[in-house]
Amino acid sequence: KTLSKEEIKQIMQEENVQFLRLMFTDINGIIKNVEVPASQVDKVLDNKITFDGSSIDGFVRIEESDMLLHPDLSTWLIFPWGVEHGKVARLICDVYLPDGTPFPGDPRNNLRRVLEQMRDKGFSDFNIGPEPEFFLFKLDDNNEPTLDLNDQGAYFDFAPVDLGENCRRDIVLELEKMGFEVEASHHEVAPGQHEIDFRYADALEAADRIQTFKLVVKTIARKHGLHATFMAKPLQGINGSGMHMNMSLFRDGQNIFFDSQGEQQLSKEAYYFLNGVLNHARALTALNNPTVNSYKRLVPGFEAPVYVAWSARNRSPLIRIPSGRGNSTRIEFRSPDPTANPYLVIAGILMAGLDGLKERQMPVHSVDRNIYSMSETERKANGITDLPSTLHNAVKAFKKDQVVLDALGEHLAQSFVDSKDLEWASYRQTVSDWEREQYMQLY
Ligand code: ADP
Ligand code: MG
Ligand code: MG
Ligand code: MG
Ligand code: MG
Repeated sequence: KTLSKEEIKQIMQEENVQFLRLMFTDINGIIKNVEVPASQVDKVLDNKITFDGSSIDGFVRIEESDMLLHPDLSTWLIFPWGVEHGKVARLICDVYLPDGTPFPGDPRNNLRRVLEQMRDKGFSDFNIGPEPEFFLFKLDDNNEPTLDLNDQGAYFDFAPVDLGENCRRDIVLELEKMGFEVEASHHEVAPGQHEIDFRYADALEAADRIQTFKLVVKTIARKHGLHATFMAKPLQGINGSGMHMNMSLFRDGQNIFFDSQGEQQLSKEAYYFLNGVLNHARALTALNNPTVNSYKRLVPGFEAPVYVAWSARNRSPLIRIPSGRGNSTRIEFRSPDPTANPYLVIAGILMAGLDGLKERQMPVHSVDRNIYSMSETERKANGITDLPSTLHNAVKAFKKDQVVLDALGEHLAQSFVDSKDLEWASYRQTVSDWEREQYMQLY
């Protein structure tokens, strides 16, 4: 239930809330905060807090650098951890221009815009259930992250070697205090790697939760003397961190992907949607895997997708249809990693899926064999293409895909490309140890 302004002010008194943290997300998915003392609450609730947008990545438009924060009162939350003299509450905000219009460079505003288009087509909710993974590393004496993992545990390991378990359990408890419904939390395949799955929610809430989740994980890890990272591939030779996205489309409380009479009990709409996501998968990769390092995860042999294919059985393809039916009928998209900006990723997937619904084409048949062991000829014969192998190639595919470009709108699409081009240019100039090891003596 969304609180009224008066209720919020009353709760602040009762709970001794001393600071309000106003949160929003930049183009790179980084959470930005404007913190104000409780005395400013009226200004906050009247949408009068301003900040300098020219200092935020992807917001640059010098002529309109003063922007306003409109708090979304439904996101009111008091952090369970306090400060010395009281509590801190947060509100997630939409960014507005001084003329009172939503700022088109705000990823959250943009997701609202895309969801509006979905509702115009008669759907009520786009549900997202994320499965974020992360690593815990030890901190050194100066509180800087090291490359020492906090444990040597293995998948679903309950043995005492899983020293990260205490930290993960604490994270889960804090999340629950904040209203998260944690469905599962476990140690991952790689040492030091963890996954926490929380219950699906409608797109905007799910994206907000992903952002809050990252903040909670990092904060609690620190309290345990650990550094949590959502970097996609922190260590070579072991699995990277993904953030599988489970999704389903609802109309009036009914999951339209389910059809008890359909092939594999999936509706025609489910197949069309799936086909839309497959068709735009190469362009979506730029949003799903937005860092240079993301592509070091998308290599064969580490449970991450490399090819554009789908399956109801196999866990290696880009898209899997988990076995749940009825209202848990869903499509699992396995390429996103936790460096992705969830607002952009979800907007992109939804527009791709809606495009599929418009086109009404069935996808190529599913691939239930191990794709890694197929030859290139076999893959071609089965209609399987490659995902982009670098950030540069992904951004090239992104620039060519009008549906995915439209999912971001002109302003965001342009700032995204600008920001990624800079990142790639900087990477290209870097000479790595690997290169020196390979070439220094050979040539
Ligand atoms: P996996 O088998 O891939 O590890 P999990 O069981 O860990 O899958 O994750 C399941 C995720 O899917 C959870 O976040 C859950 O809430 C979500 N989920 C379940 N039903 C739906 C649905 N109808 N739409 C979207 N997400 C869903
Ligand atoms: Mg899972
Ligand atoms: Mg899993
Ligand atoms: Mg996992
Ligand atoms: Mg999964």
